[in-house]
Order: sequence, then C-alpha cells, then structure tokens
Amino acid sequence: MHLTTEGAGLDSSQVDAIEAGLNAIGAAEDSVEVIVTDNLVDKVRGLTGDPDYGADRGAGVVGAKTIPTAEDSVIVLNAPEFRRRGAADLERILAHEGGHVLLNRRGETLTGRRHLAGRPQWRWHLLCVGALALDEYRIERALAELGYPTPESCDLDHFEPTMVAVNEILNACVDPRSQNPQFFMEQVIRTQDWLSKYLAYAAPFFPDGPPQAQARGHARANWNDYVGEHWHERATLYATVPSAREPMANPQFDAVLRRGLDLEIALLKQLGFEFTTQGEHYCFWRRGTDALWARRDARLRQALDGDAA
Ligand SMILES: [Zn+2]
Repeated sequence: MHLTTEGAGLDSSQVDAIEAGLNAIGAAEDSVEVIVTDNLVDKVRGLTGDPDYGADRGAGVVGAKTIPTAEDSVIVLNAPEFRRRGAADLERILAHEGGHVLLNRRGETLTGRRHLAGRPQWRWHLLCVGALALDEYRIERALAELGYPTPESCDLDHFEPTMVAVNEILNACVDPRSQNPQFFMEQVIRTQDWLSKYLAYAAPFFPDGPPQAQARGHARANWNDYVGEHWHERATLYATVPSAREPMANPQFDAVLRRGLDLEIALLKQLGFEFTTQGEHYCFWRRGTDALWARRDARLRQALDGDAA
C-alpha cells in the first residue's frame, strides 16, 4: 500500500494494523492508496465529486471509505475515529475495505450495468441499493471465513438504536418537505439503503438474524414489522453468492444483481412503500393500513419516552 497522512495521523502500531488487514484479505499491493485524514467528509467529497456525501449511517459513523480510481482504489480513513480504536478494530476495518478493493479491481461493480435495471429510473435506484448491500455481504462473508469477529454494528447494543432509526421512517411521512415526492422518496430510500446494508453485514455471521432476544419490546416489534420474513428471503439469495475473495463471472453477477433488485422491491414493500410505473413516468406511494402506521407511531413514541426516562 501507499500511505499518505493529512493531519495528526496514526502511530506505528496502528499503521501496522492497517497493513495487516489489507494483507489478510489479499489487497496490500502498492497500487492501493491509503489516505489517513482528519477530515474524511471533505476528502471523500473532493475525490468523488459528490457534494452530498456524509459520514453518518443509521446508528453509527463511517470509519473508512474506498473509492475506485483509474489505477486501483483509494481508501480514505477517518483518523479521529481510528485514533480511539484498538489495533484489532483497525485491522478488521482495513480487511473490510480491502474487500471493496478486490471487487473494484475485478470490475464486479455497478459500472456499465445500468441496462440491467431497465426503465424507469426508480428500478436503477433500487438495483444500486441491492448491489451495494451485496458488496457488503460478500466482504463480510470473506471476513467470517478468515475468522474475524462479528461486526460491532450487529451486536445487541446496536440492535435497539438501529431498529429505532428504521422507525424514524415515520419522520419522512410527516416532514412538510415530503409534499415534494422526490424529497419523500429520497428520505425513504436512504433509510432502506442503510437497513439493507445492515442486514447484509449480519447475514454471514447470524443465519437466523442479528441477536435480539434481550432487546426491548418495541425494538423487536420493529424488526418483525419492517424485516420479519424478509430476512429469510435475503439470506437465501445471499447463500448462493461467493465471498469477495472469489470472482464471479459476468452472467452470474448480472443474474444476482437482478434478483437483488427484486429483493429490494420486496423490502420496500415491507417498509410500507411502493413505486408504480406509468409509461415514462413513475409514482412513489405510501402503503399499509392506518392501523399499521398508528402502531408504528406508537412504538416510536414509546422509544422516545424510554430515552427520556
Ligand atoms: Zn463496505
């Protein structure tokens, strides 16, 4: 790897852990650039040209971001987040990012695959959501095979905040800005995007879903409502896919992406929303009975009251 530092940087044991992670997954070549920065968001915005990039995800903060380049990939590391973590965490994060490097390098990405979604545009949005979750699954599956511990985002401490955050989909429904259907749709799809990644992270480690037996009732009820049987549908598709260390031939990869799109359409329905198509145009709808949404609202209030108590 080629390392550059912007800001206060990391100590030598932390740098060793970074290298160990990339080595473990087989992505430590010199062509991989690693940038340690105190300002991840600005760096990623500069490299990707995406002014909307932000580092908050569901119940957590992003530690690293891997971006494909003409030469190979660049991995941007959130130095303040890294400085407060131990070597084992750092190694795991870099093994994960190294998985993105492998997928980028083999072209097992969305680039050149717009046609798989067909028309209209909403199908492409959901195909992307499904494909990005599939990347996370394949990488975490590789980490499970290499003997890394379960991801911290899937432990019991994170289950409750994650399930409360999913229920905040209600905010999108009552936000006055949601009178603009584009805004409304984007808010809901953003929630689906990280929920879908959360499920993908958990799948290699927890065949029956993330541990939740000791979670509070409203959090478990949110799981049953928003995910429920969908978990098994997703786990069944993922079980047919190899880890990020094993290449997938184009026809197989394309077929899985198409099935991933169907899976995201199903998850969106479970969340209570649906796209419909009319010629070149499409509509975005809230579905479900008033009773369903009233129960969701009651659980959100319960969770907020619990936090205030
Ligand atoms: Zn990832």
